Amino acid sequence: MEKIYLGDWLYNAGIVGFLRINNNLWDIKGEELISKDENLLKIGDNYIEIDRKIFDGFTDRFFDYAFNLYGRYNARLEEFQRFLENLNNETFENINKDFKNIIKNFTLLKNKLGDVKAENSQELKHLIEKAIRILEQDKEEFVESDVQIFLRDFYGQKSFLNKTITQDRKKKFYEDFEEPLKTNNNQKDKKLTCVICGERPAKKDTNYDTGFSPVFGLNKDAVNFAWNFNTKLPSCDICEIVYFCYFAGLTELNGKYYFVNLDDSVESLMLANNLFKEEIEKSPENPFIDFFTEYLLRIKKSQAKYTLSNINFLETELKETLPKVFSFNIDYNTAEFIEKNHKNLKSLSKSFFILPDKNKTRVYILTEFLNLILKKDLNYGLLYKIFKSIMQDKAYVSNYNLQRLIIMYLLYKQNLYKQKVGGKEMGLEEKSLDDMYIKGKILLERLKERDAENKIQSIAYKLLNALKIGDTNQFMDVMMRVHMAYDLEVPELLIEALKDKDNFYLLGYSFLNGLLKIQEENQWKV
Ligand SMILES: [Zn+2]
Repeated sequence: MEKIYLGDWLYNAGIVGFLRINNNLWDIKGEELISKDENLLKIGDNYIEIDRKIFDGFTDRFFDYAFNLYGRYNARLEEFQRFLENLNNETFENINKDFKNIIKNFTLLKNKLGDVKAENSQELKHLIEKAIRILEQDKEEFVESDVQIFLRDFYGQKSFLNKTITQDRKKKFYEDFEEPLKTNNNQKDKKLTCVICGERPAKKDTNYDTGFSPVFGLNKDAVNFAWNFNTKLPSCDICEIVYFCYFAGLTELNGKYYFVNLDDSVESLMLANNLFKEEIEKSPENPFIDFFTEYLLRIKKSQAKYTLSNINFLETELKETLPKVFSFNIDYNTAEFIEKNHKNLKSLSKSFFILPDKNKTRVYILTEFLNLILKKDLNYGLLYKIFKSIMQDKAYVSNYNLQRLIIMYLLYKQNLYKQKVGGKEMGLEEKSLDDMYIKGKILLERLKERDAENKIQSIAYKLLNALKIGDTNQFMDVMMRVHMAYDLEVPELLIEALKDKDNFYLLGYSFLNGLLKIQEENQWKV
């Protein structure tokens, strides 16, 4: 068995890619990555272990995976079918133009098809049918050619990707990789050990720089320096093939490729990248924060702190020399906060509010809250927007969950002040906020008793407006008048609100939450 340990991000992408290409050998059950055949593949904590027999049939799996990922062949086939369905005398010119455009950029098909002149829809029909026939009959040839085109962007001219290879690419791949890997008969360097794994002897004459990828070129200077400007860097055949699989570990979005890097475990790495892929397909507009939210909901509470503070995103355009690395910059304290509030956060996962814009954009409260925390900009504007939306009967959130959110604001702020030397004491606790919520409910009940339900809306708007602009006086003024008018005592806790702006917002919104006790049926209105 050969062990493959987690390493730099590109190598990790290679491990994810290698596993995806060999997806016949593992399964995900629940949130666990399980090997289906431990004789061929063992999944350790920070490594995988393989028997060289795993490479049996690897060529086909490798090509199939790359071919499907590239997806051009199937996309064109579907397009041609659509052309045929829609083709008539009126659509002839447009379809003719589109068809020619496709053929122009599809060299292999162009060469096989020959003349693409069509004078009328009947002739075009025959031409498109012919193109479909060729695609289907010569599929194997298209597989080999498309994979070559696709992978050149990742790996340059290595092995079967070389310009001079125009046929039998699979055979070349088999001879260069599958066969020697399977039988372990790659020529080995007598003196040098692989610089990547540091374990296996290097394969003879393996060139690190051009051998792996243009992306890897990023390390050229460092590598040259380290190896006395010798561009031939020793690496073993196993590490080489792992790097050669990294394309399958990345996720593409708008021409850029992404990878979620974690050094936690192979399992976390796999699950995170699979989830990221899913999220990109689901919501390409904001995949990072959506991924993060979803990821947070899935990981075990005990993993949250460690995992979240070690997660990194890599973005590469392949042709660029340096990939961009960005992380959520989750410091220890934020990660700890998230971990402690895991349950509260989860309870918010379905709640949303609606923005007052033209499109009536639906905003998920959890996503927005996390976004603010990660940006270290947790402000009260979010609470304002939620309440505004609630008052127009457009939010989907319960009083209970809303109160949990306000309490999380408190916990977050407390946490923040604790970190500062000599930071202020807030003089508030969770119970204070719940008490204030109850005071809001009491006022609501009283208004109902006195048949003044029609006043609720205007009182709430006045309070919300004071909260929006942070006007404590205005807020107090409304509170005093209303409480006196309905024979209630002004809540004593309001004194705390006068002392501090954070207290003001937290108590104010808690009160408003009680006052607006959302009717069950209203909670479902969108
Ligand atoms: Zn190695």
